Amino acid sequence: MSRPHFWDADGKRYIDYIGSWGPMILGHLDAQVLAAVQTALTRGFSFGTPTEAEIEMAEEICKLVPSIEQVRLVSSGTEATMSALRLARGFTGRHRIIKFAGCYHGHADSLLIKAGSGLLSFGQPTSAGVPEAIAQHTTVLEYNNLAQLSETFASIGEEIAAVIVEPIAGNMNLVRGTPEFLRMLRELCTQHGALLIFDEVMSGFRVALGGAQALYGITPDLSCLGKIIGGGMPAAAFGGRRDIMAHLAPLGAVYQAGTLAGNPLAVAAGLATLKRLQAPNFYDQLEARTARLTAGLTQAAHEAGMTFSTDHVGGMFGLYFAAHRPTCLAEVSRSNLDNFKPFFHHMLAAGVYFAPSAYEAGFVSITHDDTVIDATLAAARMTFSALQ
Ligand code: PLP
Repeated sequence: MSRPHFWDADGKRYIDYIGSWGPMILGHLDAQVLAAVQTALTRGFSFGTPTEAEIEMAEEICKLVPSIEQVRLVSSGTEATMSALRLARGFTGRHRIIKFAGCYHGHADSLLIKAGSGLLSFGQPTSAGVPEAIAQHTTVLEYNNLAQLSETFASIGEEIAAVIVEPIAGNMNLVRGTPEFLRMLRELCTQHGALLIFDEVMSGFRVALGGAQALYGITPDLSCLGKIIGGGMPAAAFGGRRDIMAHLAPLGAVYQAGTLAGNPLAVAAGLATLKRLQAPNFYDQLEARTARLTAGLTQAAHEAGMTFSTDHVGGMFGLYFAAHRPTCLAEVSRSNLDNFKPFFHHMLAAGVYFAPSAYEAGFVSITHDDTVIDATLAAARMTFSALQ
């Protein structure tokens, strides 16, 4: 029953490489997830008090992501990052947050900030409605820029409450953090008493069962999860070191709460999804499917004489109209963005739904089998020759 397709209002079928922006790793309408939600539905929608399933979900997250000693469930990735930042500020007694250009962490005020002109200039709001007084506490640096990172810590290290980073970024196309960059982040945060927050809302359970932190072998102080842990329903989480989590209300002084957090239906979908992901070879199979797609697209583009490259990690991929994989936002912006739009529209017309922006990653589900990927590649061969 579960499938990689959806249909539009006119009945046209699409192969879906967005998967609700990441959650649908099992495809649409997975039978076990559906059954779990149906069972939960018959028990009541929401109680406003923890349920057994919520506790099971928390235990599952702590088991699969060992840096998370304690976890709190919330309803969206935005809530997870916003709460993690407040906790980091409450724990350290500091205000400054470091983020990286091109990383997206949801729409909380402190995180909708772009870089100012100079390295240490105060951040500027990227959205109307964000007060400058809030933006001033966020410093935006270039992703993967080691020199800038160490200069920043040398000059304002003692002001920094937390560094928040997508260890594998998926919101400026797919851009991997280099191991050196992430190791340096870990070391500098430890040296200066700042917290390292891995925003794995997208990469969590997407690039590997233990997330990007398992692939890199780096332990953050706090992690944020979302998307896949809700199995397509609204669930997210933040958690990490027990001594930090102890500062959360009601026992600690950092307030956080949510009427629908740990909602029984969302938790049922999430738990059923997390169980499916632990099947033997799940991630090997997912990776093989993504590799077949990216290798096939690269070959099709090169046969048509296009400058094109790809990257993938687990079930997440990037497509670039450039000779090399980008390492930061500025490099993504320098790729041939003019080619992206016609590529997207030709593929859409052919029934293939990629992300409608060159600044987004794509997602493969376990239901994207060889037939589905070969149909995608046939459409891509026609598209690339039409673009020439
Ligand atoms: N963090 C990352 C890395 C994300 O990709 C997103 C959403 O795309 C968020 C946080 C925000 O999550 P939500 O849209 O559930 O609020």
